Amino acid sequence: MQFYLNGYRPGDPFSADSHPSVAERPAGLPECVDVLIIGCGPAGLVLAAQMSTFPDIRTAVIDRRDGPLEVGQADGVACRTVEMFEAFGLASRLLGEAYWVNEVCFWRPDPENRTKIKRAGRIQDTEEGLSEFPHVIVNQARMLAYLRDHMERSPTRLAPFYGLHASEVEVDTSGSAEYPVTVTLQHVHELSPTGKASTIRARYVVGCDGSRSRTRSAIGRELVGDVTNESWGVMDVLAVTDFPDIRVKCAISSANQGNVLIIPR
Ligand SMILES: Cc1cc2nc3c(=O)[nH]c(=O)nc-3n(C[C@H](O)[C@H](O)[C@H](O)COP(=O)(O)OP(=O)(O)OC[C@H]3O[C@@H](n4cnc5c(N)ncnc54)[C@H](O)[C@@H]3O)c2cc1C
Repeated sequence: MQFYLNGYRPGDPFSADSHPSVAERPAGLPECVDVLIIGCGPAGLVLAAQMSTFPDIRTAVIDRRDGPLEVGQADGVACRTVEMFEAFGLASRLLGEAYWVNEVCFWRPDPENRTKIKRAGRIQDTEEGLSEFPHVIVNQARMLAYLRDHMERSPTRLAPFYGLHASEVEVDTSGSAEYPVTVTLQHVHELSPTGKASTIRARYVVGCDGSRSRTRSAIGRELVGDVTNESWGVMDVLAVTDFPDIRVKCAISSANQGNVLIIPR
């Protein structure tokens, strides 16, 4: 990101002047938009953050959640993702808050006494030359908050609409409709047979609604690729321990009691 391209201006360089259309925009969800993004996960908000810099394109982003994700889901942020955040001008904030995964330790059963584990290796985490940025750990909820902040500071002041479940997607293929896609939205607090529903029309709809995408099935598409059926658990713990590598990412294998991956925060 570059600042002061046309000379110094007072004020916060991270916050763009709002576009005049923002003041004229009625409050609430519009009836028609150029682009409707369904889903406020990483995919939806990365796209929304990009679209927010184009005031001439009317974008709306919705999610069926009550509000922003607060905890949970991903923590590991690949260095390529940090590069993408750099393009938004958000990398320094991310790097300031995150745990840097500079190295990984491996613990395996001690060959001389397999009832105990022993450090078997300590390696650099990211391949040399892969990226100027490290691999980091920060909660997905924070990553999404950075993207929403970016949207709020953009010329469009784009903000998500929560509590709206996209249930149907209909496409007018006549070629004559200005907004050919109609999406039915169930208002989540009123999800009952008589509950409140509304529609929004769009030129383009982007389904960023996760792995079980309703948008995908609504347009008659099927998942292409492999599905895995694996069970694994994640625990968020404050460990009271004398394990020497507790502050380092560790892959720990035991002889017969399973495996643990420690991801420090
Ligand atoms: C426990 C766990 C740990 C993980 N750890 C990592 C990790 O360390 N690193 C990593 O890179 N990845 C990790 N992942 C994977 C990562 O979370 C996903 O890849 C990522 O969230 C996918 O982003 P997405 O935007 O495609 O979908 P999602 O995050 O699933 O977002 C989809 C959004 O769409 C909304 N939505 C769905 N249907 C509708 C509808 N019909 N109408 C309106 N809104 C709808 C949902 O409410 C949701 O907010 C982890 C996942 C889990 C569950």
